[in-house]
Amino acid sequence: MKKLILLIMFCVFLTGCLKKENTLVLVTEAGFAPYEYYENNEVVGIDIDIAREIAKSLDKELVIKDIAFDSIINELNSGKADFALAGMSITEERKEEVDFSVEYAESKQVIIALKNSKIKSQSDLNNKTIAVQLGSVADIYVSEDIKSAKVIRQKKFLTASEDIKSKKADCLIMDLLPATELVKNNPELTILDVELFTDKYAVAVAKGNDDLLIQINKVITKLIDGDQINEFTLNHTK
Ligand code: GLN
Repeated sequence: MKKLILLIMFCVFLTGCLKKENTLVLVTEAGFAPYEYYENNEVVGIDIDIAREIAKSLDKELVIKDIAFDSIINELNSGKADFALAGMSITEERKEEVDFSVEYAESKQVIIALKNSKIKSQSDLNNKTIAVQLGSVADIYVSEDIKSAKVIRQKKFLTASEDIKSKKADCLIMDLLPATELVKNNPELTILDVELFTDKYAVAVAKGNDDLLIQINKVITKLIDGDQINEFTLNHTK
């Protein structure tokens, strides 16, 4: 009997150890619907569907870490997470810090403002107070290209949208699909008809993590070929 109990305890211990070895840790920022957001206390979204396919292909259990967007690259490089899917745009600067997969989505940066906004063109952004998400491509764009603007950098888009409603900010610059979701839930806000720039999303891994990157590229290529990423997108934008 004693032996049996010991054996069971050993098995439980072993399962615990194996489980850790058998997990794949995703890092993201879950305030970015439809890519990653909370539904019934669970993180879901297009990126999460993709991450699940990647974990499944490796026969690993997916663990999701929701952190600030500007901490994601650090989390990868310190080895605390295996990969990032966060609607992350490929940029030359980020390419120096992480390795990117093949791209899986195209986006563009748009301006959200109150419906009666007088901003009609890119040059109207001069001298305005602009809200962005800290560390996003919009943050870099406003900081480098619209020097006369005052920038409010928020960790969450929700807070940034509150800044427009309370008139602390004249507008918010962010990605098109998440902007569309945000405006759906805030009827006083609108997406302005002004083109800024386009960008492309990819999965990020720590530099040199080639084995994982090859596997991720295989999964993404298969998902794109099978039109599944479009399917995930439709599911999360209903
Ligand atoms: N696509 C933007 C970027 O990479 C914003 C991503 C995000 O906020 N999750 O900077």
